[in-house]
Amino acid sequence: MRCDYCGAQAKVYVPHQGIRLCENCFKKNVVSRVKEEVYRFNMLDSSDTVLMGISGGKDSFVLLDVLSRLHDPSKLIALTIIEGIPGYNRQDELDFVKKATMERGVEHIVVSFKDAVGLSLSELVNLGNKKRLGISACTFCGIIRRRIINYYARQLGASKTATAHNLDDEAQTLLINIFRGDTSRLVRQHPLAPVPSKKLVKRIKPLRKIYEWEAATYAYYSGYRFQSVECPYIIYQPTVRARIRRWMIMMEKEEPGIMLRLLNSFDEVVSQRLLSRSGSTLLLNECKNCREPTSPGREYCKTCELLMKIGVIKP
Ligand SMILES: [Zn+2]
Ligand SMILES: [Zn+2]
Repeated sequence: MRCDYCGAQAKVYVPHQGIRLCENCFKKNVVSRVKEEVYRFNMLDSSDTVLMGISGGKDSFVLLDVLSRLHDPSKLIALTIIEGIPGYNRQDELDFVKKATMERGVEHIVVSFKDAVGLSLSELVNLGNKKRLGISACTFCGIIRRRIINYYARQLGASKTATAHNLDDEAQTLLINIFRGDTSRLVRQHPLAPVPSKKLVKRIKPLRKIYEWEAATYAYYSGYRFQSVECPYIIYQPTVRARIRRWMIMMEKEEPGIMLRLLNSFDEVVSQRLLSRSGSTLLLNECKNCREPTSPGREYCKTCELLMKIGVIKP
């Protein structure tokens, strides 16, 4: 089999595009599709300083590699967040991120949950469990991680934050929001959605049209070493998302390109809606405790709500 672009030996078949590519052309294909998406939605301006959430997982490695090709590396900052989970310290991944950022001329910062909220993820989860609150580790992790990224972006003067969500993640979230009837979250998922508070730094997801398998393949061809240790809290992952994920992967096999078409249709419909009513943006209130933005109709932000529930702070 020959590469459809250059004639070298083909290594990858890309079902949603119906093409066979060699390693090199596959990587170029991914970079050019990210670039196209970034420009299509004006995700980056040359003057932007971007804080990237870089966990050390494969998707975050791809984000680091591709963004440092598309943007001035001296205007990129990689932030690694240490959750603090016994038996899951990921020193190898941290060392790998240190090396990968240095090679690309990108500044690297490490922050722990403990630094940011005074407690590690395990300590938060244990307090929640003691009170039988039924809050999953993934809930704590997601909310606090988002808070840390936004907070540090503001402190460091970054104009954007970038996360490594891939097409599979975005397609799952889209369906979950539709199933829940959560239209405000649905619209906020769109890359052109206005930022609802001065304290929130605009979030971009450059890999949102790259399949998870493509990110994994790209990472592999770029020298990324896959770790065998999984987060021990993975068993508590929300089951709805896990089910949707399995179902979509199955559908994708039968009909290549469904996830891509789903997200493209969403983009088109919501773009029209967003562009047709410019100016009427919902503004978020500030949390009574920490002054960070809250969800609509709430007095306290989600981080403070969680910390109150487990008794770490008082209302
Ligand atoms: Zn080729
Ligand atoms: Zn708060």
